[in-house]
This record gives sequence, C-alpha cells and structure tokens, in this order.
Amino acid sequence: MVITKECEFLHTCEMCEKNNETDCKFDHNEHKRWLVNKRMEDIKHKVIVGSNKGGVGKSTVTTNLACALAQKGFKVGLADADLHGPNVPKLMNAEKVRLKEEDSGIRPFETSGGIKLASLGFLIEDPGMHIAWRDAVKYDFIIELLGNINWGKLDYLLVDLPPGTGNEQITIIDFIGNVDGAIIVTTPQDLALLDARKMISFARDSNVPIIGLIENMSSLTCPHCDKQIDVFKKGGGEKLAKELTLPFLGAIPLDADITVQSDKGEPVVLSRPDSASAKGFLTLAENCHKFLN
Ligand code: ADP
Repeated sequence: MVITKECEFLHTCEMCEKNNETDCKFDHNEHKRWLVNKRMEDIKHKVIVGSNKGGVGKSTVTTNLACALAQKGFKVGLADADLHGPNVPKLMNAEKVRLKEEDSGIRPFETSGGIKLASLGFLIEDPGMHIAWRDAVKYDFIIELLGNINWGKLDYLLVDLPPGTGNEQITIIDFIGNVDGAIIVTTPQDLALLDARKMISFARDSNVPIIGLIENMSSLTCPHCDKQIDVFKKGGGEKLAKELTLPFLGAIPLDADITVQSDKGEPVVLSRPDSASAKGFLTLAENCHKFLN
C-alpha cells in the first residue's frame, strides 16, 4: 500500500495501529520507508563512509570530517551505524549521553560544535557489552537511526558504516534511497587495500557515486629526527585510486596525537588544528564539498 497522505504519528506510528483513521495502519514497512524518506528530504547531502575492513580509522575519519565540515559553517549530522562497534560517542566525548524522545522524533545529541549525533552507543549501559542481534533487529535499528531520529535540516548527514559489504550496508543504502556519495577509507598495506577494493566494487554495484579514497595511517613522522617511517607502507591508497580512476582525497599520517586525542574524545581537527593530520581532514572536507557541489 502506498502512503498518500502524511502520518501525523511519525515515529510513534506503532501506536496508531489501533487508530482506524490513519492511512498507514495496514503497512508498517511502507510507513517506515515513508518516515525515512521524510527525514532524508531535509538533508542536502547524504554521505556514507566505509572501509569494509575494521580498524583502519573509519570512525576517526568520519568524526573529524564532521568537525571539519561544521567548522566551515555547514549543518552536520553523524549517524553511527557501526552496530558492533558504536565508537562515535567515545570519539566525541559523549559516552554518557542518553537521547530524549519528543513528539517530532528522537532528538539527536548536539555537540558544542553543533554536530548532531546518534549512535547505538547512547542506548547501551555497559560500553563493553557485545551486540549479538539477528538481521531483523539490526534492520529495525537502522530504520530507527535514519527515520526515528529527528535530524532536521542538514547540509550533510555522514553515515559511519559498519565494516563489511552485506546486509547492514545494503539496508542503509536502500533506505537512504539516493546516497550522494561514498568515502572509502583505507590504510596503505596490501591487505587493507584489498578490502578497500571490495568496498569500491560494492559502492559501484550499488550505484553510489564514490567521492574518493582516503589513505589513513600513512607515514609516521619521527618526533625525534623528523624522518618519515612507513609503518604500514605508503602510497597504496593513491595508487589504487589511480588504477580505479577515482579521486584520491589525501593522506592522513599515522599520528600518536590522533590516538591520544581520540581516546580523550577530542577530534584532532578541534584539539590540534595546526597539525598535519587536522589539515589532512580539512582538505578531505574541501574535496568532499567540491565533489558534491
Ligand atoms: P574503524 O572505525 O575503522 O574501526 P577507528 O576509527 O575506531 O577505526 O580507529 C581505530 C583506532 O586507530 C583508534 O584507536 C584510533 O584512535 C586510531 N587511529 C585512527 N586513525 C589514526 C591515525 N591516523 N593515527 C593514529 N591512530 C589512528
């Protein structure tokens, strides 16, 4: 059944099942899709950040990109869709946050920099507790993240994808409907590049335009002698981008400051704005904005 008129119950529609006057009482799936569409209509650019491989710094890149875009004056939202490792609250010093439900939806947490955040991490009492959900539960959570959260009007919604190219990623892309772009994060070594290749192939297959590839944990600058140390090798990201005719969005160094500041919940873009890493994230934000505009 196609919903032709607005449902005034929005995210509380489950309750309107008993209400014979509403259009959507017969088809909850359609209602969910309608609600997500309604939220997405208010967002100019929907961007997914993926890597296929875990641990390459996808969440770090997403949070710093969000800060860099917000600094440029854009209204930014960050949806942490990494169900098994919802680390955005920790990276943004928002671990104790709990979200409030209002008539118009669940209100996302707003950082001091004005970034709207939603994460499964806000619902879990013990951050060390694992998540073992069947696909149907994950599906419902993804719809809640996109549709029940009242994102409001945004220039950018960044979606931090879970690692992989499966059910969760397909559901997210399907429900957003028209993803404006994907940023692929890799580290320079062959193993990570192989996973990045799969993510690129997945994005292409899903008809998501690829904004480009970013190489994280590139060269480390020795703090004693300033020499470059290629811990995970270097340049693989740029080479892969060239081979697959994709924009290369830059390289973020392997930087102990990122690790330390991230553990404190302070993205380097804000806490070390003059560092090479922060500059790398600002360049990423510029490249991203150029691509989408
Ligand atoms: P993912 O989302 O891909 O699993 P995270 O963003 O959670 O990865 O990062 C994993 C770890 O690596 C975190 O402890 C983070 O602080 C650290 N990290 C990420 N990028 C860098 C970097 N460029 N230099 C140093 N540490 C980094």
